[in-house]
Amino acid sequence: MDAMYGEIKIERTLTPKQKPNEDKLVFGHEFTDHMFEMDWNKEQGWHDPRIVPYGPLTLSPACNCFHYGQETFEGLKAYRCEDGSIRLFRPEENFKRLNNSNDRLSMPQIDVDFAVNALKKLIEIDADWVPHKKDTSLYIRPFMIGTEPSLGAHTSNQYKFLIILSPVGAYYATGLSPVKIYVEDQYVRAVRGGTGFAKCGGNYAASMKAQDIAEAEGFSQVLWLDGVERKYIEEVGAMNVFFVLGDEVVTPALQGSILPGITRKSVIELLRSWGVKVTERRISAEELVEAYKEGKFTEMFGSGTAAVISPVGLLRYEGTDMVLSGGKIGELSQKLYDSLTGIQWGRVEDPFGWSVKIL
Ligand SMILES: *Cc1c(COP(=O)(O)O)cnc(C)c1O
Repeated sequence: MDAMYGEIKIERTLTPKQKPNEDKLVFGHEFTDHMFEMDWNKEQGWHDPRIVPYGPLTLSPACNCFHYGQETFEGLKAYRCEDGSIRLFRPEENFKRLNNSNDRLSMPQIDVDFAVNALKKLIEIDADWVPHKKDTSLYIRPFMIGTEPSLGAHTSNQYKFLIILSPVGAYYATGLSPVKIYVEDQYVRAVRGGTGFAKCGGNYAASMKAQDIAEAEGFSQVLWLDGVERKYIEEVGAMNVFFVLGDEVVTPALQGSILPGITRKSVIELLRSWGVKVTERRISAEELVEAYKEGKFTEMFGSGTAAVISPVGLLRYEGTDMVLSGGKIGELSQKLYDSLTGIQWGRVEDPFGWSVKIL
């Protein structure tokens, strides 16, 4: 598998950096000593896979990614476990999703096994960078960019695939804590038929303005509505969402405009294994308000790799403030957080085979 795109060449840095203080890690600020890089063109396909010292790229200012945004990415983590091993969480899922994103943006496919193996090699070299402190991890950012130096507005005929690594602290410095969110009714993030299901920079560019406004108003995120009727719940910034309505857990169905989160999928599988009823369907903001008034809407949380589970303490829709779980961490949120992080750090048994030991 290794040699599929050629042998991975390794060039080690001559000037290893000092490791950051594990008590003060800021998400995505510091990077390890090495990165993985590989190129694609029409004639050769993927070629020249290499692990090189982490550093700036030299690119033509005419590159497609700067002007027309052919860019896709992924996000996953490596965990240092109590038994000394280093593990990944469902890594194949990330590279399968990268291929789905690439297909939508008319970018080349990459072999999933090759990519997972390249990632393992990279982490092996930078293994000392996987932090040791409880709840810290090594965030992994694979991404692909169109690099053809041409202003012609067409699919790039050259690409780069890279993987960079960043040691990160616990998402919530003071432990799991509830966030405030409002339902966004002016801007939309994605529409069916667009790129909502793809993990691409363009979706984020389109969401920054609403995010800035929300932060200025003291909210941590916005909850997006569908782009057509502006009635149905989609997801929040970089998380999928779940609602506890009576004895049912509801999450918006994937219909092309929502990112199919791997944490989302794991939450659904975990809940079902506990015998909890989970429904994937359309759910309107109005329905939530009605259920809240009837006392049936009791808990809400987001799911994503960075925060794992993010309890929502307050949800605002138009004039209504819905206080959930008394503004505290809901019971199910805490149980899911403990179970998922337990599996990720090898603290509890993993009956699903999600946790992959790499070192
Ligand atoms: C990455 C992402 C998520 C969460 O996906 P996970 O695989 O669970 O990390 C949700 N929504 C958006 C828009 C994302 O980019």
